[in-house]
This record gives sequence, structure tokens and C-alpha cells, in this order.
Amino acid sequence: MIKRILVAGGAGFLGSHLCERLVEAGHDVICLDNFFTSQKSNVAHLLGRSNFELIRHDIIDPILLEVDEIYNLACPAAPGHYQYNPIKTMKISILGSINLLGMAKRCNAKIFQASTSEVYGDPEVHPQPESYRGCVNPIGPRACYDEGKRAAETLFFDYHRMNKTNIRVARIFNTYGPRMHPFDGRVVSNFIRQALNGEDITIFGDGSQTRSFCYRDDLVDGFLRLMAAPNDLIGPINLGNPGEYTIKQLAELTIELVGKGNKLIYEPLPPDDPTRRQPDISLARKHLDWEPRIPLREGLQKTIEWFRSINPDDFRPPTPNY
Ligand code: NAD
Ligand code: UDP
Repeated sequence: MIKRILVAGGAGFLGSHLCERLVEAGHDVICLDNFFTSQKSNVAHLLGRSNFELIRHDIIDPILLEVDEIYNLACPAAPGHYQYNPIKTMKISILGSINLLGMAKRCNAKIFQASTSEVYGDPEVHPQPESYRGCVNPIGPRACYDEGKRAAETLFFDYHRMNKTNIRVARIFNTYGPRMHPFDGRVVSNFIRQALNGEDITIFGDGSQTRSFCYRDDLVDGFLRLMAAPNDLIGPINLGNPGEYTIKQLAELTIELVGKGNKLIYEPLPPDDPTRRQPDISLARKHLDWEPRIPLREGLQKTIEWFRSINPDDFRPPTPNY
């Protein structure tokens, strides 16, 4: 059945790919974005499609739309971006969620929240299952994002309990791929940009901290499965690739794939940087029949090809923090 679907944050890295998938499936897609960390070029190829429209809007302000489904991806995601204006980041997670949940309630629409592995903070449990309640520093520099996303989850579950709103909450682990902002300061984009430019690769700390990297297409497939799942499957559910790597291993693999023999240099570890992160995806495997298919080497290769194909000057650095 063709649905009217709102994608808030639809011009971003993940949102633009989600919009593509929904447009291809024939849905009537409204992409809403304030372009804080993205640009129109991410969705320019969809602008001529009769089932796609683009609205410039900030979700901190209410908006009246009639829709059947809502995906809330609107939030700066890279540490440098969300720490640029931390008070605004918190407002986006809280006021933005309230506005979209209000819309879902009024329209009787199903609503998806892009939550994050950051709700687990610097985890004492490894790998992290959904039942783990996390270890977040509520007053540190990452708190605006971590606590904002935790509060957003609270709002989603309260709307569900009070109003029977049909919610879906996905906890997303580190994801990479084409259309990441080349100046977002995240580890994959930094390493690829540095490797291609023949620069030194900046490792923060000693590089022993771990992350588990999921390729964009696998992740968005998980979003669609969660949204299509039976109504009692509301989450929270982890979506990510369980393949865990140290940051040093990621640097070495990137250098090998780019082939310029870059040097590693070591810089101070930012405060509250989680020491390890790996999703337990048992629930997604069982209930969504989902698991990532693209291994890191293959996904990195595709991402490196995309970085080679773009002119970084076409991308405006959203903040000075890259
Ligand atoms: P992104 O920065 O590319 O996308 C976010 C989009 O939201 C951008 O287009 C941005 O302009 C828009 N936006 C920001 N504030 C807005 C506002 N107030 N109103 C309207 N639009 C706004 O990041 P992404 O990696 O595509 O992340 C998408 C979502 O997934 C985010 O909510 C993020 O927290 C979540 N997430 C991503 C990852 C990851 O590894 N990529 C991991 C965990 C969670
Ligand atoms: N990192 C790094 N060099 C960089 C950028 C990031 O060593 O140029 C590290 C960072 O300290 C963290 C990990 O890579 O330990 C992942 O950082 P990212 O900002 O991509 O995401 P996070 O998972 O921390 O939100």
C-alpha cells in the first residue's frame, strides 16, 4: 500500500538513503530538513520525482502535515556537530520529538525514532544488549546528545503508554557509507579524507578503543524491517554490525585500501570517549530476521570510491569542529 511518509532529517547521510528507498518503493515521501549538517545536493536527484517533496524546516518548531508514517532522524549525529551548540542539540531531541510525536498522535501515524548506542554511554556490559541501562555521564560534553536521545526514548514510550502511539525505537550503532559529510569529524570520514590526501592519520588516544561499523545500506534495511514489523514490536532494538574493531585496526585497513602508506599520529582522547562498543543484535536477528551483510572491508572500499568521486569543496563544513 502506498503511504505518505515524513522523513525528518531526510537530507542527511542516512535520511537521504532512506528517502531513496521509500521513493523507489512508490511511497509519497516528504523530506524535512533544516540543512544544519547536510545539503540539498544529497537529495537533488530525487527533486524531479512526483512522489518526493522537500521542506526546509526546523523540528524544534511545530509543523502541520498529514502523514501515515514518520521517521525521526533529525539530529546532528557526529560529536563535533552535536557539541557545537549543545543546548540546541538537547532541544532537537526533546522539543523535536514532542512535535513529531504530537503529529503522530493527531494523524494516528506510526513513528520511528533514530536512537543511538550512545544511550549505553561508556558501557560496563559488553556487547550491549537492549536490557543494559547504560553508563552515561550526565554532565559531560557528550551528554547533550546521549541524554537528549535517552529523554527522546522516554517521550516515545510515554506517548505509547498514554496515547497508544504506534512507536518504533532503533538504537543505531556506528554507521558509515557514501554521503557521510566529508567534514563531519567522524572517524571513518576523517581517516578516508586523510588517507586520500596523503596526510597523517589522526588516532585519538592509543587507538585501542573499539567501535563496530555498519554499512549504510544494511542499516536502512533494518529501519524498513522494524517499521514493517508487527505492532507489538516497538523496540528499543539494536541495529548495527557486531564486527568489532579497534580504531587502530580501522586506520590500518583504511591505509591499506587507499594505498598511500600514510603515517599514524596520536592525539589526546576526547573526554568521555567510550572505550568499547559492540551491539548484541540477537533481538533484531530473531524478530526482524535482520543482520548486516556487508563486511567492513567491502563497505570501506565502496565508501572510499565515493570519497574519490566527490569534490570536498562542494561540501560546506557545518561547524569548525572537524
Ligand atoms: P546527519 O547529520 O547526516 O543527518 C541528520 C540530518 O538532520 C541532517 O540532514 C541535518 O541537517 C538534519 N537536522 C539536524 N537538526 C535538525 C533540525 N532541528 N530540524 C530539521 N532537521 C535537522 O547524520 P546521520 O548519520 O544521517 O544520522 C541520522 C540520525 O541517526 C540522527 O538522529 C542520529 O542521531 C542517528 N544515528 C546515527 C548514527 C550513525 O552512525 N550515523 C549512529 C547512531 C544514531
Ligand atoms: N577518532 C579518532 N580519530 C579521528 C576521529 C575519531 O581516533 O580522527 C576516534 C574517536 O576518539 C572515537 C572513535 O574514533 O574513539 C569513533 O569516533 P566517532 O567520532 O566516529 O564516533 P563516536 O562513536 O565516538 O560517536
